Amino acid sequence: MMRLGRRRRRALVCRDAVALMTAYLDGDLAGRDRDRLEAHLADCPHCAEYLAQLRVTIDALGHVDVEDLGGDAVDEFVALYRRWQAG
Ligand SMILES: [Zn+2]
Repeated sequence: MMRLGRRRRRALVCRDAVALMTAYLDGDLAGRDRDRLEAHLADCPHCAEYLAQLRVTIDALGHVDVEDLGGDAVDEFVALYRRWQAG
């Protein structure tokens, strides 16, 4: 096996983290996935900020349809991330 120079702490990339966030906020995320997401959030201010925004949205609406959020939320996040990187 060829070894890539990736940092082990980046076990979860931002796209994966965003995909797990709705389940996390619903309390449906458990075990290793939850640990990995929390580890990523501790290490990634962008995702922590996005989770905070998601939480505000859920508070405002009272409910978020996970199916609505799915792919759109990830696309939205990627666009947001590009803006952060550009700024
Ligand atoms: Zn991230």
